[in-house]
Amino acid sequence: MPLDMTPGSDPFGRMCNACGQPIGGDEPATRIDFASDPRGDKGLTGDYHRACGRPFQALARVVNLKPLAR
Ligand SMILES: [Zn+2]
Repeated sequence: MPLDMTPGSDPFGRMCNACGQPIGGDEPATRIDFASDPRGDKGLTGDYHRACGRPFQALARVVNLKPLAR
C-alpha cells in the first residue's frame, strides 16, 4: 500500500481525517478503511482521533457491508 503517495498524508505523522489536526503519538487514534475509498482519495479512509472517528466508523461499517451500486 503506497501510503507515502496518499494526498494529504503528513510525512511527520498522522493527520485526523475528521478535524484535520495531527494525531499525537500518545493520542488514541483509529484507522478506518472505507471500501468506497480504498486509497483515501476522498479523504475518508485514513486515521482519526478515536473520538472524531466514532461516527465515521459507524458509517464505514455500513458502506463496507453494502457495496456501492455498479
Ligand atoms: Zn480529530
